[in-house]
This record gives sequence, C-alpha cells and structure tokens, in this order.
Amino acid sequence: MENTFDTIIIGGGPAGLTAGIYLARGKAKVLILDTATIGGQMILTHAIANYPGVEEVSGYQLSTTMKKQAKSFGCQIKSNIKITDFSIESESKSVTVNDKIIYNSKSIILATGGRSRMLNVPGEEKFKGQGISYCATCDGDFFQDREIIVVGGGNSAMEEAVSLTKYASKVTVLHEFDHFQAFEHAITEAKENPKIDYIMESRITEFFGKDKLEKVQYKNQKTGKVSEKQIDGVFIFIGYQANTDMFKNTSLKLNQWNEVVADEMMKTNIDGVFVAGDLREKRIRQVTTAVADGTIAAVSALDFLHNK
Ligand SMILES: Cc1cc2nc3c(=O)[nH]c(=O)nc-3n(C[C@H](O)[C@H](O)[C@H](O)COP(=O)(O)OP(=O)(O)OC[C@H]3O[C@@H](n4cnc5c(N)ncnc54)[C@H](O)[C@@H]3O)c2cc1C
Repeated sequence: MENTFDTIIIGGGPAGLTAGIYLARGKAKVLILDTATIGGQMILTHAIANYPGVEEVSGYQLSTTMKKQAKSFGCQIKSNIKITDFSIESESKSVTVNDKIIYNSKSIILATGGRSRMLNVPGEEKFKGQGISYCATCDGDFFQDREIIVVGGGNSAMEEAVSLTKYASKVTVLHEFDHFQAFEHAITEAKENPKIDYIMESRITEFFGKDKLEKVQYKNQKTGKVSEKQIDGVFIFIGYQANTDMFKNTSLKLNQWNEVVADEMMKTNIDGVFVAGDLREKRIRQVTTAVADGTIAAVSALDFLHNK
C-alpha cells in the first residue's frame, strides 16, 4: 500500500502544488511527481509582483513556500525523476518512475505546464529573466522608460507590443517576414501607435551583455546584412507549447495546439483524469490562474474519490 495513492499529480508547478495542498487538506493521500525542480516556471522568474497578498517575491521563494505548505499537509513529493511509463486510461491509474518504482492511484491530475517557444540562438538562455522575457503581463513593468524589442508578427506579438508601450519609451517590433500574420485590427492598432517602429525580414542571431542583456545582433533575411542594436529588453512572442508530448499516444483529448481540453471543473475526457495549469486550453497563463485551476481540479478529484 506504500506506493498506492488516492491521487498522483504529474507536475509540481503552482497548479500541481495547489492541487496537492487542497487534496491533502481533504484527507487524500497525494503524490506529486516532477521531472525537474519543484516550482515550475515560477523558478525562472526573478520577481513576481502580481501575486495578490505578496508585494514582490522571487519565484524561487514563492515556490519554496508552496512546496513547504504542500508537504506540511502530508503531500509526498518526488522531484528530478523520470516518468518511464504510465497508464491513465483504465480505472486504476499507474505511473512508473525511473523504470523501477510503480505508483498506483485512483485519480490523476495532469499539471505539466508549458513553455514559450524560444529563438534558440546564442545568449538567449543566459539572459532569460535578465532582459529577455516571454511574458509582457509578468515583466512589462520592469521596463519603465526603457527601450525594448518585441520579436514576432502574430496576434500576441502585435497586442503585447501595444500593451508594452504603457511602460517602454520605445518598442521595436522585429519580424522575420515582410508582413504580419496578426488580425488586421491588431496590426492597425500597432501601426497607429507612435511609440512603435519596425525591423522587418530580420531574425535575431545573438544576444550580448555582461550580467544583463545589453545588445542584440540581427540579420536581414533578404540582404544578409548583419546589424547590432543596443537594447534594454527583448520580449519574444513566437508561440507557446504545452508540455503534453507524453500524452499524445493516449485517448486524452487535445486541441490543435496540443493543449488539454477540459470543462470548467477541470475534468478531461478520461474518467478520473483532471488537468490544471498552463497545459490546458485557456487564454491567460499566470501563477494566479494556475493556482485557481489547481484548486478546482483538486475539488473535482475529491468529489470523484468520494463518489467511488
Ligand atoms: C520567465 C517567466 C516569467 C513569468 N512571470 C510571471 C509573473 O511575474 N507572474 C505570473 O503570474 N506568472 C508569471 N509567469 C507565468 C507562470 O510562471 C506560469 O503561468 C505558471 O508557472 C504555470 O504554472 P503551472 O503549474 O501550470 O506550470 P509550470 O509552472 O510550467 O509547472 C509545470 C511543472 O511540471 C513539470 N513537468 C513538465 N513535464 C513533466 C513530465 N513529463 N513529468 C513530470 N513533471 C513534468 C515541470 O518540470 C514543472 O515543474 C512567468 C513565466 C515565465 C516563463
């Protein structure tokens, strides 16, 4: 019985940890599994200023507190593990870790989050959170009266470029094509904004700086000309990926972007399988929305366990 749980939560970001807190407080036996360090994308954030009730906190500190809280209510947590097999479709669920330990449960909460698409050019990893951001809502405020670049040409890039003009003194949209893929109204709004200008048909090739981002190098796709620009920040909006690869060969319902489809109680199409956080089909991806999802998924899982 040692390896048998009421609920296994896959993913220990804010969604998974919150689900763990609510389930454990509801007297369920809970295991949280994470392939990396507990905390999820929060750990990548040097300062979270929009989590209510906490004026400003480092992502690391917030995740440490959430983890402590989950443990204090009795959640078992295993980080830096590898899930080598799992079964979520039958009535009894199981997850195999590191090819040797099999954990069984009556229900599962999927909370594997997601990640922004990266440019994958030199310097990007180094300056992530130190001048390079993938989230205007999270980091826009740190660029008050600074000059920034927005990379991308879709709806997110155009809309966020406009929203970032609330903070930045100048926003340059840098896009690889000679036209934008965004809706006409988003393009028009950006074009009418006097703080925004454009570098078209170009791709960033490298980021430079000491401790913080200071400069980008970019290349014109047509002429091959390489240029440099001093810059305070770069926001990258070239798409988002839900961490759902491991579920692709199951009957779990995903949308065309491979995000998990669920109802408002976080129930998926598989009985006893719930979802919470950034991997699900939704528009706003924040710590607040992840913890809200985690709460709802846990309550749904508790109802499911009770009815069993
Ligand atoms: C740079 C940056 C700054 C941000 N700043 C803010 C901010 O200021 N305010 C704010 O509200 N939001 C911010 N966000 C967004 C916020 O961090 C996310 O919306 C939130 O963390 C999503 O929580 P989650 O639990 O759904 O997923 P995640 O935080 O992505 O956590 C998912 C967890 O699942 C684990 N995992 C993935 N795959 C597997 C697997 N196969 N098996 C087991 N575990 C797996 C991951 O290791 C991770 O720990 C920021 C995001 C980034 C990237």
